[in-house]
Amino acid sequence: TLSDRLADTFKNLRGKGRLSEADIDATAREIRIALLEADVALPVVREFVAAVKERATGAEVSQALNPAQQIVKIVHEELVTILGGETRRLRYAKTGPTVIMLAGLQGAGKTTLAAKLALWLKEQGKSPLLVACDLQRPNAVNQLQVNGGRVGVPVYAPEPGNAGGIEHGGNPVQVAQASIEEAKRKLHDVVIIDTAGRLGIDAELMQQAADIRAAVQPDEVLFVVDAMIGQDAVTTAQAFLDGVGFDGVVLTKLDGDARGGAALSVRSITGKPVMFASSGEKMTDFDLFHPDRMASRILDMGDVMTLIEQAEKAFDADEAAKAAAKMGAGQFTLDDFLKQMQQLRKLGSMTKLMGMLPGMGQFRDQLENFDEREIDRVQAIIQSMTPAERENPKILNGSRRLRIANGAGRTVTDVNSLVDRFGEMQKMMTQMMSGGGMPGMPGMPG
Ligand code: GDP
Ligand code: MG
Repeated sequence: TLSDRLADTFKNLRGKGRLSEADIDATAREIRIALLEADVALPVVREFVAAVKERATGAEVSQALNPAQQIVKIVHEELVTILGGETRRLRYAKTGPTVIMLAGLQGAGKTTLAAKLALWLKEQGKSPLLVACDLQRPNAVNQLQVNGGRVGVPVYAPEPGNAGGIEHGGNPVQVAQASIEEAKRKLHDVVIIDTAGRLGIDAELMQQAADIRAAVQPDEVLFVVDAMIGQDAVTTAQAFLDGVGFDGVVLTKLDGDARGGAALSVRSITGKPVMFASSGEKMTDFDLFHPDRMASRILDMGDVMTLIEQAEKAFDADEAAKAAAKMGAGQFTLDDFLKQMQQLRKLGSMTKLMGMLPGMGQFRDQLENFDEREIDRVQAIIQSMTPAERENPKILNGSRRLRIANGAGRTVTDVNSLVDRFGEMQKMMTQMMSGGGMPGMPGMPG
């Protein structure tokens, strides 16, 4: 899968200080293969890889993220962009009922979706009317009625006596037109028109959908596509765009092991936003499409991005830079030491979560040996010191050490050990800084 592939790629990047051109090329190649394997259309892959490469090359050096994480972040952000960025909301008609027409191949999930959408609209306070314009399959009208019944939404169907009624052989264009009059009469504010599909792209079917569209001029034509069909989604989408035209896309069957390629390709090739996602047989398995969530799904790294953002926030880059400057100047005090510890605590409380992150290897060892209580002890001791003592621990004589130990609820030995460790650390830092090396995470206790 795409996610496994990227994870492997990033594994190779672990521990690198920064990205070389060769790293970026290798990563780009892996992403390219991964996307092709995920059924993303070739032109989309090319565009995507170029975008990631460009950004990786100029990537700002981040204090909190190693190169692998930076790549994950860039890939994620580019995925969101290519998936459309923001969620596109339904446009409601200014006057009269909002007309939503569904189009797509047979089996795409239109009829199921019609009812899910109706339920969703009902929950938004709307009063939808479902319209059965699939008069091709004998059971299609009944299927919509059953689904409508499940969500408590009425269905307008070509019963005998209704316009386009079965007794006239069934005319979907007439049914669609009449349904809008019905909606006005019965005060429905949204009309959802379910249409017929064929198993393949078919001129007659396209014409029928185009005729319905021309007759009722929907506010939204939604192209419904099965996310499991992979590359075929692109061909189908293009055919419907040319033959019928549509405003937005609905991806169905996202609960299956769809590889995500369809979502990426359809949006990118048709330029039409994916608006809704359908993910199961239950009527509530439906939601607005969220590009950021889909990007995570494609990466299949769950909440990795959230974690990375938390880590970035926890590790305050400004503070770190200030501390580094002070170290260099040999002015690193116990106060600074405490601040660094507190930063580490913020990271440390995420130890377990971080363990799941790709590329977190370099932090993991440190974090696993990390004792939360040790920070509490060190903090208590430093906070029992006066500002002058924190600035210059050399003034810490025996009576001061005893006062601090009592204040912190620790022993004098604890105070001594902290002061000694701090002294050693200071010495080490001065050596490192004068040797030109950057210190990593200073002040690991223990
Ligand atoms: P239509 O021919 O486009 O109207 O498609 P249907 O609504 O009749 O759906 C075809 C089949 O796909 C039915 O068996 C549905 O239960 C199933 N289906 C529709 N949407 C989903 C979905 O999101 N997830 C899953 N697993 N099945 C779905
Ligand atoms: Mg149907």
